[in-house]
Amino acid sequence: MKIEISSLKPGENRIATALSKEDFRPDIAANVSGGSLDLTVDNRDESLYFTGQMTVTLDLECSRCLKKLTRELDLPFSFVAREKAEGDDEDVDLNVVPYEAGDKEIDLSPPLSEEVAVNTPMAPVCREDCRGFCPVCGGNRNKKACSCKEEARNPVWDELLKLKRRP
Ligand SMILES: [Zn+2]
Ligand SMILES: [Zn+2]
Repeated sequence: MKIEISSLKPGENRIATALSKEDFRPDIAANVSGGSLDLTVDNRDESLYFTGQMTVTLDLECSRCLKKLTRELDLPFSFVAREKAEGDDEDVDLNVVPYEAGDKEIDLSPPLSEEVAVNTPMAPVCREDCRGFCPVCGGNRNKKACSCKEEARNPVWDELLKLKRRP
């Protein structure tokens, strides 16, 4: 997702576009199936102020049973793009996207990817009561209940018991 700097007029610019895998860095793109971007670029004070809303559809897997599922993220975002100045390297501000004096375009992929990264659910579930796989026989307990006796003991407790039993 690149914005040509010379195409921006002074003041507010409105950009609405579809998003696809190519607009994100590879680790994020792997999960993205589509999306859209509604962006306002305010071109003033030698800075570009980006504010907008992005909708991204993610293809994920249930963290318990690995069933495929989709999640839609609605993400408001804002950041500033500014020409790199002397001494800028020292204070890295995550909301500032620096660019070089001769740059013709600004790559929005890094900030957009970061936004998706921090908002992607770590352990999505296909449904709240998903039973997942049995740790003993490996069967999908959503499809078929098994009669395995699950040792629900956490190894940490074993360690604690050992300590307690110590003379
Ligand atoms: Zn599941
Ligand atoms: Zn089982």
